[in-house]
Amino acid sequence: MDVKAFAALKENGKLEEYHYKLPSLEEEQVDIKVEYCGICHSDLSMLNNEWGMTQYPFVPGHEIVGEVIAVGGAVNNLKVGDKVGLGWMSGSCMHCNECMDGSHHLCSTLEQTIVGRHGGFADRVRAHWSWAIPIPDEMDISKVGPLLCGGITVFNPIVLSGVKPTDTVGVIGIGGLGHMALKFLKFWGCEVIAFSSNPSKKEKILEMGATKVINSRNPEELESIQGKLDFILNTTNVTLDWNAYLTTLAPKGKLHTVGAVLEPMQIPAFSLIVGEKSVGGSPLGSPALTRKMLDFCVRHDIYPTVEEFPMNKVNEALQHLEEGKARYRIVLKN
Ligand code: NAP
Ligand code: ZN
Repeated sequence: MDVKAFAALKENGKLEEYHYKLPSLEEEQVDIKVEYCGICHSDLSMLNNEWGMTQYPFVPGHEIVGEVIAVGGAVNNLKVGDKVGLGWMSGSCMHCNECMDGSHHLCSTLEQTIVGRHGGFADRVRAHWSWAIPIPDEMDISKVGPLLCGGITVFNPIVLSGVKPTDTVGVIGIGGLGHMALKFLKFWGCEVIAFSSNPSKKEKILEMGATKVINSRNPEELESIQGKLDFILNTTNVTLDWNAYLTTLAPKGKLHTVGAVLEPMQIPAFSLIVGEKSVGGSPLGSPALTRKMLDFCVRHDIYPTVEEFPMNKVNEALQHLEEGKARYRIVLKN
């Protein structure tokens, strides 16, 4: 099958129209006609080969929503015409302990949608059936895409860390991931403190559910909430003063990062020892939790706040994100 995509042919290159052929569909695979695809900061990092694992030509896009157009012979949970979403992961072995345990996102032989294969800035994309997540009928598919990567990436830590409605939670960086975290935590019942470096976002951040906004780059402002937070979720793609953030945690509190930065985090042992604090991280979430997240979104009418660009304006859209202008997630429409 011929796929029309947008690819960068070299590191930091602009995206250009690019055609490639998919081989015959395997028994457990499905093909998806891409209708919308969100732009995650990881697409930018991959485009610029920041993590040293990009292969060119490179087709980004891993917040995909569309319609199933072909199913392999062994697929029995999906049919042609179904609406599905696809995130960072597009296949897992289905037999390792993690897969057998329902933690497919921790499979050691994961297939990743934009690593060594082509992603969703295209008219078609392929996946193993397990990662083609059915979209509830009542959802507006023009806004669902960002939930498939950014959304589940911030939803999983809330569940994984057992965040309670009585907790006070901090979210650092109110971009694509961070703004979805605010919306989830509001309906989780938590008191939410937002850390942002951009004062112009303040009003909207409060509207999205935070009770307070603190300058993420100002250690003096952090002092005002020392010992107050039960959980902090970092979604920034930069290095901050982590020790200053550890002081804002209450005893037994946890700093959880999903921001994908290569630079090691400086964590003094005593900042953890005194107060039994911990630091953790996580990648997206399992297919089952992704489905539950979508149900949670239906129940509370939660959607990312999106800006739509046509797919053929992908370079303008990427620049908009790179300049920090996205409010709060860009979605490309085919
Ligand atoms: P994004 O939309 O660009 O948001 C990142 C936010 O970080 C910005 O909106 C900004 O928030 C803050 N920020 C940026 N530069 C900063 C600076 N110099 N100082 C302080 N704050 C700064 O990116 P995203 O798509 O949400 O992705 C966020 C990170 O998560 C990326 O590193 C991405 O690769 C990673 N990620 C990880 C996973 C995973 O599986 N763990 C999944 C998806 C994405 P303010 O304007 O509010 O300061
Ligand atoms: Zn992503």
